[in-house]
Parts: sequence; C-alpha cells; structure tokens
Amino acid sequence: MFEALSSKLNGVFDRLRRRGALSDADVAEALREVRVALLEADVALPVVRDLVNKVREGAVGQEVIRSVSPAQQVIKIVNDALVEALGGGEGDDGKRGIDLNAPSPVPILMVGLQGSGKTTTSGKIALRLRTRDKKKVLLASLDVHRPAAQLQLATLAQQAEVTSLPIIAGQTPMQIAMRAMDVGRRELYDVVILDTAGRLAIDEALMEEVAQVKLATNPHETLLVVDAMTGQDAVNTAKAFQDKVGVTGIVMTRIDGDARGGAALSMRAVTGAPIKLLGAGEKLDALEDFHPDRIASRILG
Ligand code: GDP
Repeated sequence: MFEALSSKLNGVFDRLRRRGALSDADVAEALREVRVALLEADVALPVVRDLVNKVREGAVGQEVIRSVSPAQQVIKIVNDALVEALGGGEGDDGKRGIDLNAPSPVPILMVGLQGSGKTTTSGKIALRLRTRDKKKVLLASLDVHRPAAQLQLATLAQQAEVTSLPIIAGQTPMQIAMRAMDVGRRELYDVVILDTAGRLAIDEALMEEVAQVKLATNPHETLLVVDAMTGQDAVNTAKAFQDKVGVTGIVMTRIDGDARGGAALSMRAVTGAPIKLLGAGEKLDALEDFHPDRIASRILG
C-alpha cells in the first residue's frame, strides 16, 4: 500500500532539497504536486483540501524559507498533516487497538461486506486475544446465508486454538447471537466475537439484520472490516455502516497488496471512526496495530 503516493511525494521533496533556499513560489509548486499525488492516491477531496491547507499554513512564510533546512521543514509539516488525517491528532489517544474494558464476556461485533476479510479478521483477532492478552475467546458465525461460512469460522477457530460455537442448523442470526452470549456467560469466556453475514453490496436487509443483532447484544466494539484495495468504495461502505449501524472502529485489510492508500487517509475524516487494526496477509498472525505516525513514516519513508 502507498507505493505510488510515497514515490511521488519523495520526488517532490527531492526537488525541494536540491533547491536549498526556497521561495514562496517553490513551496506553492510543491504544494500543487502534493495535491495531485494525494488525488491520484484516491484520497477524498475534502481530505486533500484540508491536508494541503494545513501544509500551506505551516509552510508559506518567512520561518520555513529562512530556516536552515527548508525542505526538511516542509516534510515535517506534511508528516504532521498526514498523522492528523490518519487519526493521530490530539484527543485520539486510547482509541487504538481493541477496547476490552467492559464486563465479561465482552461482545465484539464484526461487520462488513462479503469478501472484505471479515471472517479471516475474526480469526486473527481471536488468535491475538488468546496469545497476547491471554483471553478466553468464543467465536460465533451468524452467517446463515452462505452455507460454508459457519464451517469456515470453525476451521479458523481451530487454527487459532479457540472455541467456536457449535453449529445448530436452522437457527437465525439473532438466535445464534443470543446462544453465543449465553454460552459466553455460563462458560466464563472473556470475549465473544460475533461474525455477522456480509453481502456483496450494502442493502437494507443486511443493515437491518446487523442493527438488530447489535441492539440485542450491545457489543462493546463494533468493528467494520473494509478492503483497502477497494479504495473510495471502502470509504463509502464505511460511511453507510457508520450512518446505519454505528461502528466503533475500522479494520483495513489487504494492506499487503498494492492499494493506493487513499481509503486509509480518508477514513477518519469521512466516517469519524478510527482505524484500529490492519490486515496484512492471509495468515492468522498477519494483523497489525494501526499507528498513524508509523503509517505517515511509511508514506514519507
Ligand atoms: P469475508 O467474506 O469478509 O468473511 O472474507 P474472508 O475472511 O473469507 O476473506 C476473503 C479472502 O481474503 C480470503 O481468501 C482471505 O484469505 C483473504 N484475506 C483476508 N484478509 C486479508 C489480508 O489482509 N490480506 C490478504 N492478502 N488477503 C486477505
């Protein structure tokens, strides 16, 4: 992810470095190039405007131009603006990672479109909670629409060495959710992960089903899984889920691919929800924490 954006921004900064002293015109030209690079990376327009304005405010003027290494100053300003767009601004602390600060069993609801990587991510989170946080985790698939979905989650649970809720044919998603919470309470689980059904596109029935389950289980975290490769569509999907269901965080998958990265940079501003985790591969241990500062360094690196 971010390869093209990264190489374009680095091109801009290399040119600035070669100039040494910078005029207002040099900075303005660099800003134009930064703008184009962000747009080409599929960053949402309002986010591009905001980013460029912040850099302009910080960069244009005597201080930067007279500083010892003006290009370095501009890079720092761009870095800070990227960190902020990624959700690393003040007041965002503590919203990263999964919040388990609630009475056990803590319900976590996984939502998203089919193929986004939702079921795989449920398995990844289960593995992490078991191994890193020493939690007793129950996985339950509420996907009664896709016949193989419940079996797929059971297989992932086995790989992650956590329990999956026994499958009872004919139960509705709501019945499965209630049964999962009941087993979670009786058998003293720390966390119950509820993997809901996805659809190929947003539709009313999907939203209604997810909203009902959310109401009934009162999840402490509602994590939306989106595929970074789908770019602007991922942002639109997130906006729809945020408006209709309400999510507490976003997991962006397939960052191991060649996604342009605009979705990651737009998500916070468009949805208000923080990206909490990144999926970086098909294997169950390919789950990363989301650190805005590290992502910004990756882009500018
Ligand atoms: P769901 O329909 O949303 O539950 O999606 P799945 O979890 O079944 O994932 C669909 C496909 O994407 C599977 O082949 C996964 O192995 C793959 N996948 C999931 N997450 C990632 C990721 O972060 N990177 C890559 N490269 N593939 C992933």
